[in-house]
Amino acid sequence: MGVHDLDFITKQLNDLRDQGVYRKLAVLQGPSGPRSQINGKEVINLSSNNYLGLANNQRMKNAAIEATNKLGVGAGAVRTIIGNMSIHEELEKKLAEFKHVEAVLTFQSGFTANAGVIPAVVDKGDIIISDELNHASIIDGCRLSRADVIRYKHSDMEDLERVINEVKDNYNTKLIITDGVFSMDGDIAKLPEIVKLAEKHECLTYVDDAHASGVLGKSGRGSADHFGLHGRVDIQIGTLSKAIGVVGGYVAGNKNLIEWLNHRGRPFLFSTAVPPSTAAACLEAINILSESSELTDRLWENARYLKNGLKSLGLNTGKSETPITPVITGDDKKAVKLSNRLFEEGVFAQSIVFPTVPRDGARVRTIVTAAHTKEDLDEAIGAFEKVGKELGLIQ
Ligand SMILES: *Cc1c(COP(=O)(O)O)cnc(C)c1O
Repeated sequence: MGVHDLDFITKQLNDLRDQGVYRKLAVLQGPSGPRSQINGKEVINLSSNNYLGLANNQRMKNAAIEATNKLGVGAGAVRTIIGNMSIHEELEKKLAEFKHVEAVLTFQSGFTANAGVIPAVVDKGDIIISDELNHASIIDGCRLSRADVIRYKHSDMEDLERVINEVKDNYNTKLIITDGVFSMDGDIAKLPEIVKLAEKHECLTYVDDAHASGVLGKSGRGSADHFGLHGRVDIQIGTLSKAIGVVGGYVAGNKNLIEWLNHRGRPFLFSTAVPPSTAAACLEAINILSESSELTDRLWENARYLKNGLKSLGLNTGKSETPITPVITGDDKKAVKLSNRLFEEGVFAQSIVFPTVPRDGARVRTIVTAAHTKEDLDEAIGAFEKVGKELGLIQ
């Protein structure tokens, strides 16, 4: 066994197998949709972030094809050395109007937005005050910055104020960061209280709306819009990869922030701009959302329908307030079994176990979309009833 066999990795993979957390990726054999071909079987898909069904939208596909024919398949360079196409700027202008902010800067993904923005706005001598359940890309962004990081208990406003008081005299900039919607439980950040505390103690606020973009607020304008907090959240991150159906991330804020990121946002400076087709499809998505609230209305109607259906079976759906609805089994093996049996019954919903969720918090997570029909949802609820009884989760 030589060094090139990477034996240490083989050993670590075997450890995963021993812990029962080794997995193979499922394969989607067609477009993402309410019913999808997954691992060779047509199933009701309750496992995407394609909230509005836009990933396979005809208007957006046409816009992408047209942009490709007109502008090519690639931007040719990073934004700063003339990968900056007029279509990128057009998208940013449209997003700024949509979000009711002064300016927007796009990144290649929501992940790179966090990895780029956080280190650009805080540095040594600053402190980041972070919800303990914040997304991995926020955690990485915090690590990349040279600021200190302190965590507060999930959505616990007393603990947040305790932490603020503990650190506030020792640092320059104090930045409170939270997810807008938490992806495992589907609960919404207590943004009005966070903003109030931030204003009282002179902290900045940063909300990552990856799961709120296209979902919360008027036509999906995000959590600040949902709570009527325009102008009071300093930095808003959005994604174009989930409800918007394409890929990309952005930061929305004031002009100075965006200009600073033009000079100091590292993924913006050192990684190539997204293809024109991507920007064009995103632009068309924002057009669709600006024209009417039909898709977001349908999303929320479906979310209520599925949530009520699962709850009335007696399943434990936790504290979800959004189209993310977990079915908590507690036991890891039961969650895996539930997911496997649902698949056999024609429903795809993934199990999530420790360490992604706390011990005893194992679950199958469902995400409903605007594209699901009532028949899809009734069939899915029926499958949950059958398998839930089988596994003793319900009577
Ligand atoms: C999904 C997610 C991201 C990453 O967004 P991508 O555009 O997929 O890279 C960032 N933050 C949060 C909170 C997320 O849920």
